Amino acid sequence: MSRAGRRTIVMLTGLALAGLASWLLGCGGSSVGSVGGPSDGEGLKVVATTSVLADIAQQVAGDRFRIEALIPPGTDPHSFEPTPGDLRRIVGADLVIVNGAGLEGDLEDYLNDVDESSIVVASEGLTSRTPAPGEPGHVADGEEHAEEAEEDADEQAHEGEADPHFWLDPVLVRTYVQNIAAAFERADPTHAAEYAAGAEAFDRELTELDAWTSEQVAALPAERRKLVMNHASHGYWADRYGFDVVGAVIPSVSTGSAPTARDLAELLETIEREGVPAIFVQTGENPRLASQIAADTGIAVVDDLYTGSLSETDGVAPSYLEMMRYNTERIVEALKP
Ligand SMILES: [Zn+2]
Repeated sequence: MSRAGRRTIVMLTGLALAGLASWLLGCGGSSVGSVGGPSDGEGLKVVATTSVLADIAQQVAGDRFRIEALIPPGTDPHSFEPTPGDLRRIVGADLVIVNGAGLEGDLEDYLNDVDESSIVVASEGLTSRTPAPGEPGHVADGEEHAEEAEEDADEQAHEGEADPHFWLDPVLVRTYVQNIAAAFERADPTHAAEYAAGAEAFDRELTELDAWTSEQVAALPAERRKLVMNHASHGYWADRYGFDVVGAVIPSVSTGSAPTARDLAELLETIEREGVPAIFVQTGENPRLASQIAADTGIAVVDDLYTGSLSETDGVAPSYLEMMRYNTERIVEALKP
């Protein structure tokens, strides 16, 4: 897992972590050790970082207990700043479900320090993809960024940033489901059969979603399957459904950096050379730059995909399955000839 992507988040969470530290001191360090299995027989207390993860985990849990998301709908998880209240919810939970692979940044390291047995890393066992030549974040052999190497003298700057967006490929979400079900079964063995049944049912939904998505994108000719996203969020989705990620407004798998003037000039050139039909922005991101580039190149901008967060319950993407179907429909609609 890359540490490079966490640099910006470390600063953001520093304050909140200091808040937790003093809270823990106030309660006595031993309170951390009390986090464990269900104590009152009313079901596990489970929190997940994102609303997407909470929904996936809820499918496994069924009616047994309710999973809360820490990050509110419409909020970009890359810039998650846990409040002392969030950290108290984390410490008070039997299980904390995180995406991992750097999505939650500094929080992830911190959680492992607190109580490893209560943390469920949904993406455990999955390997980060490596950006292909021509994609944002691609590092050619022998090519390194001198400035970055200086800044991160203690880090492996030549190692690409891990891409945490596994959940945008429904086939990879099957691994999330297995990891979550295994954690529920371990923490609450009495109801293991229910969790296994929930996982199996949702696994079937994922297989259906995958088949449905393949059918939808079949309408697009190969030369229209070119993605420019606001940040490099759709690599796994592109790999699964035969698209090329030809650029990103923020050329990174996170949203914590800003493009340089040269990055933007290159993107304009790519859009024109490749005949890219549209730019896609996710809710929770600032669409200003993408809109500007779309206007400059005379192409469409679609600024309402859901990737890092579900919509509110009365919105267009209140569940993982609905979010994925909605995004595919928007993408196909914008890219079709
Ligand atoms: Zn993202």
